[in-house]
Amino acid sequence: MSDYNWCHGPNCHTQQTQSRVRGSGDNKVLRTRRIKVHKSSFAMDTIYSYFCNQSCLMDFIRTHLTSLLAIAPRREALETPIKVEKTKYESHRYRYTDNGHTREPYIATRTKIIT
Ligand SMILES: [Zn+2]
Repeated sequence: MSDYNWCHGPNCHTQQTQSRVRGSGDNKVLRTRRIKVHKSSFAMDTIYSYFCNQSCLMDFIRTHLTSLLAIAPRREALETPIKVEKTKYESHRYRYTDNGHTREPYIATRTKIIT
């Protein structure tokens, strides 16, 4: 594996930044950014080993969205079984009037999801 990846952003080479200017004299170009891959880092195989920034990542997703979704299509909703625990507790709310406000107690319901 190379120590560098080229940014996969489809418009990376069109962004006008100093870091993309290459060439000499009248033969200058804007070039796709090169990304150093840190082999010993926990971040070695993260998405930012392939994209120089979030803008390039989102450009890639927008350009290839149909193909990306075809890799792992979602044709039905996924579900996670849970238990729901509802408990009553005393809370309060404020009622605003022309003369200020009053603090009124009421019984509220807390919903807790237990996995
Ligand atoms: Zn880029």
